[in-house]
Amino acid sequence: MPTNIATTIADARRAVAEARQRGLSVGLVPTMGALHAGHLSLIRAARQENGFVVVSIFVNPTQFGPSEDLARYPRPFAEDVDKCRAESVDLIFHPDAAEMYPDGHVTFVEVHSLQEVLCGASRPGHFRGVATVVLQLFNIVQPDAAYFGQKDAQQARIIARMIRDLHVPVRLRVMPIVRESDGLALSSRNQYLDAEQRKNAVALSRALQEARRRVEQGERTAAVLVKLLTERIAATPGAVLDYAAVVDEATLQPLTRLAGKVLMALAVRYGATRLIDNTVLEIRSDS
Ligand code: AMP
Repeated sequence: MPTNIATTIADARRAVAEARQRGLSVGLVPTMGALHAGHLSLIRAARQENGFVVVSIFVNPTQFGPSEDLARYPRPFAEDVDKCRAESVDLIFHPDAAEMYPDGHVTFVEVHSLQEVLCGASRPGHFRGVATVVLQLFNIVQPDAAYFGQKDAQQARIIARMIRDLHVPVRLRVMPIVRESDGLALSSRNQYLDAEQRKNAVALSRALQEARRRVEQGERTAAVLVKLLTERIAATPGAVLDYAAVVDEATLQPLTRLAGKVLMALAVRYGATRLIDNTVLEIRSDS
């Protein structure tokens, strides 16, 4: 099957309806394009688990703050199409902003408490934009399953809560972080880094790995781990810490002592480029 491209909601709905008529299950991979191996891992999971795979490519304006990189966000659409073809994607949904947000759009989805912390603290309104566009995509495509990356741990949590709270009939699949060989988590924003920043960007995954080892060796005090993460970033040339957090994986609230499922997360600026990374640990009550 060739990869079709729909730019309107009506065309996307028609293509999905045809697939449904053929009895195929539908998997959706929401992206902002500039596809890399992280995105491809989601597409491959969707391909394995569904008869019909939809990749949305939409740089969603409502999730960017006024001083963020909306205008310069990379949009290599022709290359993205080639990558989707190579992965046997059935449909690319590539609407413009007016298609998704026609004049008079005033309805937004807010996932309170989860949206205000971590990345939400320095990017006010970001997750409101994310939750809104993802619910729009769910309503347009009506997929059986939707594929997200653990790279954006808070986003995955927020989508999970939205699905639960709004009774959205979709199965959420969260796939592991894909990394460069030195450990840097793949991101469309990595291409903003100059050679020096790229070299130093490995500090995020290194610091998280070190904190992880400390937990495996028995450390259970969150403040000790936050201090370690903070110090490692402070010691990295050109790196400015946005946050270092050790939180409960479900509520995203800070922990005092580590217990249950724990998310350790970092956001770091290199010049104008903001990178994030995280790792999840499960602390058994007897350990
Ligand atoms: P984006 O295009 O940045 O909005 O990302 C689209 C999806 O790809 C999101 O669910 C991300 O979490 C996921 N993603 C981005 N980078 C990675 C990565 N390095 N590994 C796994 N998934 C990723």
